[in-house]
Amino acid sequence: MRINIIGGGPAGLYFAILMKKADPAHQITIHERNGPDDTFGWGVVFSGKTLANLRAADDESHAEITKQFEAWDNVDVVHRDAKISIHGNSFSGIARLQLLKILQRRAEELGVEISFRTEIHDVEALRNDCDLLLAADGVNSTIRLHYLEQLKPQLDLRSHRYIWYGTNQLFHGLTLTFRQNTAGTFAAHSYKFNKQTSTFIVECDPQTWKRAGFEQRADADTRAYLQEVFATDLNGQTLLSNNSKWIQFLLVKNEHWFFDNVVLLGDALHTAHFSIGSGTKLAIEDAIALADAFRQTSDVQTALAQFEQTRKPVIEEYQSAAFESMLWFENVRDYMHLTPMELAFSVMTRSGRVTYEELKKRDPEFIRRFDESTPRRRF
Ligand SMILES: Cc1cc2nc3c(=O)[nH]c(=O)nc-3n(C[C@H](O)[C@H](O)[C@H](O)COP(=O)(O)OP(=O)(O)OC[C@H]3O[C@@H](n4cnc5c(N)ncnc54)[C@H](O)[C@@H]3O)c2cc1C
Repeated sequence: MRINIIGGGPAGLYFAILMKKADPAHQITIHERNGPDDTFGWGVVFSGKTLANLRAADDESHAEITKQFEAWDNVDVVHRDAKISIHGNSFSGIARLQLLKILQRRAEELGVEISFRTEIHDVEALRNDCDLLLAADGVNSTIRLHYLEQLKPQLDLRSHRYIWYGTNQLFHGLTLTFRQNTAGTFAAHSYKFNKQTSTFIVECDPQTWKRAGFEQRADADTRAYLQEVFATDLNGQTLLSNNSKWIQFLLVKNEHWFFDNVVLLGDALHTAHFSIGSGTKLAIEDAIALADAFRQTSDVQTALAQFEQTRKPVIEEYQSAAFESMLWFENVRDYMHLTPMELAFSVMTRSGRVTYEELKKRDPEFIRRFDESTPRRRF
């Protein structure tokens, strides 16, 4: 089979690896507009369950990935200078660039052709030149736009603003920090992803963003402002920029996942709010599901239909949990009156996927302290 892939992110690379492994005779080309060492962003996180899926799909890349990991089992919630730790949540972090390098190496070693610094404009020419065109071109997908009529995307641009920084302050756990000043409420999502660096994502509502004057502030000034907001948490470390810009989360859904020999994958197909940290996981698990469909049939239409049928319910469930989580963060100012313990419980149960009982299993000590501090609560 001749396969053209647009986008050398986790979705495109992982699908190429699995297809080439399944049949070395497949001719696979990835077209990627960036160079092999360019990347945007800092670290990404995976849960223990995702790692098990990676091991089952490709032991070689799984071994490389886990060698580089920083692992933890606690979520830390920081509110009014108190830190509440909730254990029993197995997560690991890795630099996005490192993950991409591992997948690039693995794909090339299997014989996948990666054409770097190649931006695709003529989608139709590429489609006619292959049996399968994979649109793994990310959240602002050109292919999705090109086949708007056929794929019928539904896009929802949220009003909250967020910015993705790094810092050399190490956060030994998935740390959610809430700080308020005269402009409003800020939330930071942070976690270490190697021995020296943590991801530090800041988000705020549009009113806070406006009052803080970010529209007029240049990069250095924005960082200085946020360093002051999170001074206690950063412990004297600075925020590191990687072409970091304020963005608004774009919620992506598509009525149709494929058309003729074109299929969407990863962020081009769907997004889930970063507060549940699942974008890369979903992109890679999409690739596993699509490759599985091709293992059962070589007929492109049948495989694509099966992929959509089996994967759609899984994605819908994730998107619905991620939506609840996103709404919680969008309404965060309404929770600021809670005590640190109440806020920690509210954060942990925000998506509806984790219940009081589940938390009791994961961290009985946390629930004991929670019950003690909120005696009037009944479950
Ligand atoms: C603030 C923030 C925090 C996040 N945190 C996490 C996290 O903790 N954990 C997690 O798992 N995920 C996280 N994500 C999400 C994660 O980054 C994405 O979900 C994931 O990278 C999706 O993979 P993908 O392969 O679908 O797309 P991408 O990684 O976006 O890759 C798409 C690729 O396509 C290329 N491309 C696009 N158009 C063209 C074109 N026309 N021609 C050639 N190439 C093209 C791009 O250069 C890019 O390399 C976060 C995202 C954000 C914004």
